[in-house]
Order: sequence, then structure tokens, then C-alpha cells
Amino acid sequence: MKIAIVGSGFSGCGVCWHLLLQKGVEITLFSAGGGATHIASGLLHPYPGMKARRSWKASEGMRATKNLLKTSEEVLGRSVAIQNGIIRHAMMPDSVEIFLKRAAEYDDFEMIGPKLAYIRSGMTVHARSYLEGLLGACLSRGARYVERSIGSLEELEGFDTVILACGAGMTSLAPELKLNSVKGQILKCRMAKKVERSIIGKGYLALGEEPGTCFFGATYERNFIDNEADEKRVKALLFPNLEMFLPSLSEFNVLECYSGIRISSQISHLPLIGKLQDGIWVMTGMKSRGLLYHALLGEQLAHAVMLNDESVIDREVRLS
Ligand SMILES: Cc1cc2nc3c(=O)[nH]c(=O)nc-3n(C[C@H](O)[C@H](O)[C@H](O)COP(=O)(O)OP(=O)(O)OC[C@H]3O[C@@H](n4cnc5c(N)ncnc54)[C@H](O)[C@@H]3O)c2cc1C
Repeated sequence: MKIAIVGSGFSGCGVCWHLLLQKGVEITLFSAGGGATHIASGLLHPYPGMKARRSWKASEGMRATKNLLKTSEEVLGRSVAIQNGIIRHAMMPDSVEIFLKRAAEYDDFEMIGPKLAYIRSGMTVHARSYLEGLLGACLSRGARYVERSIGSLEELEGFDTVILACGAGMTSLAPELKLNSVKGQILKCRMAKKVERSIIGKGYLALGEEPGTCFFGATYERNFIDNEADEKRVKALLFPNLEMFLPSLSEFNVLECYSGIRISSQISHLPLIGKLQDGIWVMTGMKSRGLLYHALLGEQLAHAVMLNDESVIDREVRLS
């Protein structure tokens, strides 16, 4: 089966790797460069959102992602994640009550202070390095990588199957899907004081790969004009939140500012995978949970493609 995958971010590489474990596939990965994966802060844990609800299939998602982290690490010969948990600060009036409930419900969620919870299973993934290793693993298993922007599906007529995993590019290649685009920006900073763990409050601090660096983030711009990074705007949006939960960490230098576009489904808070039409499949809507779901859903989509059967995909994330 000759397969074209458009996109080489978490989604494209996630499905590519699982397809390569099957026999008889010949895969070409097309990439226009960039994408949200390259600037993801790397937070991976099962309790997103203010309500800290445990995500759908969180354990399976974490397990699948850890397997791919290992695959990437084997290629690179170095670690691509810090596995020492994530701290959550209670930021809303009802946060403590919610945290206490989660601590009673789940083994990996515990209170470590009056307003502090510790997510033991949480980890910080070095997104760029992880992707570099995963892409390397795909290439060494036979995938072909082509740096090219695909303007229309007609360009891919020579392929038996096309998988669209192209993040913000979905809006032009599959305009029939009901998707939202949100611009997110992060600041890469050097910290004056050593921080041991990534921390989530109203904004977040994610440990960086280079010692002493971190990413500050949590901006959600729905009405954006372009995808350019705008340091002044990020500071205005972020700093009031950061000062609330990190007063002692206010000494940092901004090194760089990055921006990217998160894609979500208009009809569900979960990602969307499945068959768009004969021979055309999609993997999209990863929102802020690309790390949690790309491996699990990449595996499901690979099975569905090989069997040409959408019903093997979980109903909650299936396109139709
Ligand atoms: C600021 C920010 C911080 C984030 N932090 C986290 C985090 O801490 N944890 C987490 O889990 N998630 C995080 N996310 C979300 C995460 O980045 C996304 O869920 C994930 O990267 C989506 O992966 P993807 O492969 O679907 O899309 P992308 O990573 O956007 O990849 C799209 C790919 O498609 C290619 N492409 C697009 N159009 C075309 C075309 N026409 N032709 C050829 N190729 C094309 C691009 O070149 C790219 O390779 C963050 C997002 C942002 C914006």
C-alpha cells in the first residue's frame, strides 16, 4: 500500500510509526515545516483544565506515548523527557475542593500543600528532540520524508491512501471538517533560580531541555491576524497570571518567543480521527493534548487504515 502522510508533527509521525510496524506499506511523509509540535511546551499528564478532570483513556494514552518516547530515545541515544511529575497550583476558589476530590479518586494525584497538588505520573517532554528521534525512527524503518507543501489532494493521486495529519493545514485541505484554530504563544526563558518540576497554575512553567531554561505559556487567542510570535503581547497576556502563582520566580530573562496554532474540533473536546472519503483519512483536533493522544490514536488509525475499516476506532474520537 502506497501511503502519503501530510504532516510530520506528533500526529503524522505517530500514525506513521504504527503503520511501519505493518507489512507491505510504503510511506511518504510530506511536511511544509513548522507546526504546533515544534513549539509544544511538553507537558504530559492526565489532568488538564481548571476542573482537573482525568482525560478520556488517559492511562492508555500515557502508556502509548511512553512507548514512543522510548523509541525516540533509542534513536537519539539520550533522554527526551523529565519524568518527575508536575505540580498544580490551586488558582480558582473551588480548586482546592476539586483537587481533594481528585486525590481521593486517583493514586497519581496527591495534595502536597494547602493549595498544591502533585501529579506523580506527569512528565515534561522535550518536544523538538522527541520529534527528531521519532522521525528518525520512521526514516530508519523505511519512510521517505519530503519537504513540500501540498496545495491540493490532486497532487497525491499516485498514492493508494492519503492521511491528513497537517495541523493548521487541515482548514485548507479538508475544509469540510468543523475545526477551530487558536493561536498559542510561549516564552523560552532562563531562570535565575533552579526549578525542579514543571508547574501549572493559570499559566504554566515547563522545564526546558537546556539546564536553567523553561517555557512560560498558556495564551489562547481566538481572533488572531497572523501566526507571528509577538513577545510584547505574550508578556501582556501571561505575566499577570504568572506573578500570581510564581512570585518567587520573577527573575528570568526572556530568550525567545514562539507561536503556533492549536486545532480543535467544534463538535467534541476530543481529537478526531477517521475516514474522510475513500482513500483519504484524517487525524486532527489534538488541541493541547497532542502528547497524550498522538501515539494511542496513531495506533488506532493505523489499524483502521490497514483494515480499511473505520469501526475499529473508538466511537468517542471517530469521525463518523
Ligand atoms: C504554544 C503551544 C503550547 C503547547 N503545549 C503543549 C503541551 O505542553 N503538551 C501537549 O500535549 N500539547 C501542547 N500543545 C499542543 C500540541 O502542540 C498539538 O496538539 C500538536 O502539536 C498537534 O500535532 P499535529 O501533528 O496534529 O499538528 P502540527 O504539529 O501542527 O503538525 C502539522 C504538520 O503538518 C504540516 N503541514 C501543514 N500543512 C501542510 C501542507 N499543506 N502540506 C504539507 N505539510 C503541511 C506541517 O508542516 C507540520 O509538519 C501546544 C500547542 C501550542 C500552540
